[in-house]
Amino acid sequence: MTTTRTAIVTGAARGIGAATALRLARDGLRVAVLDLSEEAADVTAQAVRDAGGEAVAVGADVADEDAVAAAVARVADTLGAPTVLVNNAGILRDNLLFRMSTSDFDDVLRVHLRGAFLMSRAVQAYQVEARWGRVVNLSSTSALGNRGQANYAAAKAGMQGFTKTLAIELGQFGVTVNAVAPGFIQTEMTRAVADRVGVPFEELLAHEATQVPVRRVGQPEDIAAAVAFFVSEEASFVSGQVLYVAGGPRA
Ligand code: NAP
Repeated sequence: MTTTRTAIVTGAARGIGAATALRLARDGLRVAVLDLSEEAADVTAQAVRDAGGEAVAVGADVADEDAVAAAVARVADTLGAPTVLVNNAGILRDNLLFRMSTSDFDDVLRVHLRGAFLMSRAVQAYQVEARWGRVVNLSSTSALGNRGQANYAAAKAGMQGFTKTLAIELGQFGVTVNAVAPGFIQTEMTRAVADRVGVPFEELLAHEATQVPVRRVGQPEDIAAAVAFFVSEEASFVSGQVLYVAGGPRA
């Protein structure tokens, strides 16, 4: 008999998180679609339900300790113990170092790192009790360094150290912890980059595609597929890894 697992995907109202929620539901998991706006999250949750899956929308800021505790408890009540967590919520506040404000630095670390920490700490209680669990963290090729992203690169490199440490601590409880590091993916996040630098999005996509060995930009589903592998039952001996999904060694 196979157990129906419950997953929480953060930042899942759109983009990579939404594709991941849909993919995990297709793989048979119940999915909590968590995002800042519950209304926006419900668009994804409805798409999951329309596809025959089971989903709830939960509004919460991943960096707010009380909101995280309440959200995770609500998921446990409505969908069952959450034993799968995808830390996907993220923001960009790009600028060159000399122009980067302290709040732009703090905000990025707050959402990515503090958010992943609070969510993982809340969910691990259910994972340890179940003696089974999966955590997948979203890193980025920017972890290797990217102009204008001192805050984001630090956060995404931080996600890798966080991933490896949780893998060491939680392995004995049957919990694996891995990271997916995407290259350039076509989402609202990268559209905002085009807007900021004043280039039409289509032009940016075409340019980025020429930089990628497989000659295309990534789609949210490319990342969802990698997350789904780490979440799968058969990936139980894969932990503490960072998988670059970038159409080449880096994008
Ligand atoms: P996206 O389209 O901007 O979606 C991110 C989602 O996260 C949004 O729905 C956003 O909500 C939500 N969010 C932001 N702050 C939050 C918070 N404090 N609590 C809860 N939800 C929050 O981004 P994406 O492109 O799909 O990226 C998803 C993840 O992949 C991020 O971690 C990103 O850093 C990473 N990544 C993306 C790329 C890429 O090329 N797109 C590359 C490498 C890594 P609001 O809309 O309300 O702000």
